Amino acid sequence: MKNGLLIVISGPSGAGKGTIYNKVLDKMPEIRKSISVTTRKPRAGEKEGVHYYFRTEEEYQRMIACGEFLETASVYNHHYGTPKAPVFQMLEAGDDVMFEIDNYGSRQIKRKYPEAVTIYVMPPSFEILKERLTARGTESEDSLKTRLGNSRRELSEYGNFDYIVFNDDADVAAEEVVSIINAEKCRMSRNEQEVKRLLAEK
Ligand code: 5GP
Repeated sequence: MKNGLLIVISGPSGAGKGTIYNKVLDKMPEIRKSISVTTRKPRAGEKEGVHYYFRTEEEYQRMIACGEFLETASVYNHHYGTPKAPVFQMLEAGDDVMFEIDNYGSRQIKRKYPEAVTIYVMPPSFEILKERLTARGTESEDSLKTRLGNSRRELSEYGNFDYIVFNDDADVAAEEVVSIINAEKCRMSRNEQEVKRLLAEK
C-alpha cells in the first residue's frame, strides 16, 4: 500500500496558520491530525489527548531520552514535540497526516522525512501581522515587540519550505492548501508503483 502524505503547516504567530489548518481539516476530514506533546499548562477548554498531551518537564525529558519524538522544539519557554510512533502508523496505513508546528520543527521533519510537504503561511504584510497580534488582546506591548521581532526572523527562513501561501483571506488560503495537497497526491514519484503495475498488465 502507498504511504499517506505528511503535510506540515508552519508560519509566524499571527499569520493565521491555526485557522487555515482547521479550515483544511473541515474540507478534507479524511486527513488525520498529529496530537503534540507539550510541557505548557492546558488553557481553558483544552483537553488531554484532544488538543495536546500535557506532560511534566521530567516526563518530556524521558520521552526525548527514549527517542520518542519525530521533532521537538521550544516555543516561548515551553517544549512541544510530535510523537513519532502514531505518525508512522498512520502514514503506513495509507492515511494522510497534517501537523501545525513551528519553523524549527518543520526543518527537522524535512531532514528526517524528505517526502514531507512543508507549507509556510505568510501574512500579507507586517502591518496586518501587527494588527492581528494586537487584536488578540493577549499580548503586552513588550511581548508584541518580541513576537514581531521573532516573526521577522522566522519569515526570513521561508526558503526552507516547499510552498508559500499568503493569508490575506483565510478561505482562499485554505483552498490553496487543499490544491497543494491534491497536486502532491498526483506527483509522479508517489504514483510510480501503480504505473508500473498497470504497465505490467497483460
Ligand atoms: P500554543 O501553545 O499556542 O498551542 O502553540 C504555540 C506554538 O507551538 C505554535 O506556533 C505551534 O505551531 C507550535 N507547536 C505546537 N505543537 C508543536 C509541535 O509538536 N512541535 C513544534 N515544533 N511546534 C509545535
